[in-house]
Amino acid sequence: MSDPVRPVPQPGILDIAPYLPGKAGAPGSKAIKLSANESPLGASPKAIEAFAAAAQQLEIYPEGSSRLLREALGEVHGLDPALIVCGNGSDDLLHLLAQTYLGDGDEAVMNRYGFSVYPIITQAAGARIVMVDETDFTADVDALLAAVTPRTKVVWLANPNNPTGTYLPDAEVRRLHAALRPDILLVIDNAYAEYVTADDFTVGSDLVREADNVVMVRTFSKMGLAAARIGWMFGPAHVVDAIHRIRGPFNVNLPAQMAGAAAARDTAFTEQLKSFNAQWRDWLTAELDGNHMRVIPSQANFILVQFPDAEHAALAFTTLLERGLVVREVGASYGIQDALRISIGSEQAMRGVAGILQALVKVG
Ligand SMILES: *Cc1c(COP(=O)(O)O)cnc(C)c1O
Repeated sequence: MSDPVRPVPQPGILDIAPYLPGKAGAPGSKAIKLSANESPLGASPKAIEAFAAAAQQLEIYPEGSSRLLREALGEVHGLDPALIVCGNGSDDLLHLLAQTYLGDGDEAVMNRYGFSVYPIITQAAGARIVMVDETDFTADVDALLAAVTPRTKVVWLANPNNPTGTYLPDAEVRRLHAALRPDILLVIDNAYAEYVTADDFTVGSDLVREADNVVMVRTFSKMGLAAARIGWMFGPAHVVDAIHRIRGPFNVNLPAQMAGAAAARDTAFTEQLKSFNAQWRDWLTAELDGNHMRVIPSQANFILVQFPDAEHAALAFTTLLERGLVVREVGASYGIQDALRISIGSEQAMRGVAGILQALVKVG
């Protein structure tokens, strides 16, 4: 029998491994989700109020450029709103950047345990992803630079990185940028910037202002608004112009714009989340590290815990699951077989995780 004639995806699309989201508990179960780096303190009450208020205007198209959100972001972060583009989550903007700057025969460089969306969007644009080895779960600037070829068009850098939680200090990001050709776009994905406590970290916006080939991408998802899907980028005018041409004309819905603007201005809530996270991130790290487990030092709202071997990691995953604590496996999506990624959650969840893992791994 001959194959039926039917529409065929562009070359390479069916080679893409689909994104694997963090698991949730069974529907109706009381499982606590520590698998997607969501906020353990809910959303800003002001954002919830603004989202609800938008329900009165659902019949009207939103203002297409997300002006009210861009103005709030400009005010809070000290940025020119004209150089901000908002998206339906930062995934939306990452896809648009890939589509705009990558094509057949091009290459994009990333570190091996970088965010798993980058290979998907690179291949979807017809380009090739070049994976670069890390040094102890941290992006290695010299190795990234050594992987650049005449075909390189984009460097994807999550800072801090997901799923490792490690980061590059300002000086290292600058060293990377300084050695890149000016026609290569450096995308700095600061999805976890609000959680960073290290003194030598800076967000990408300073570099964006100084250079013509740097974009900073941010999100509200890890700060209590994952369901609303709100991301934003800050870039040079020529990049902003290109992205505006191909983005969906109304890509951020009105409830999201209003909730995002309120959340951006609610800096007290942002601070509260940051200090809660720092306290329990440090606590869980100290409880687990050295106890036949190794915690990779994290600047984000999760930790990567390394077990003696893949069997221990699998046992830890199922034991936590049985006790109603859902964490993230990083074998299939990231190729890290002996580790689990655990989001920082409530005090009760953190004490539960620590107790279970200490009892389980003690046997060694
Ligand atoms: C979660 C995450 C994002 C995606 O965020 P959305 O705004 O929800 O699309 C982007 N980059 C990194 C590194 C992330 O961990």
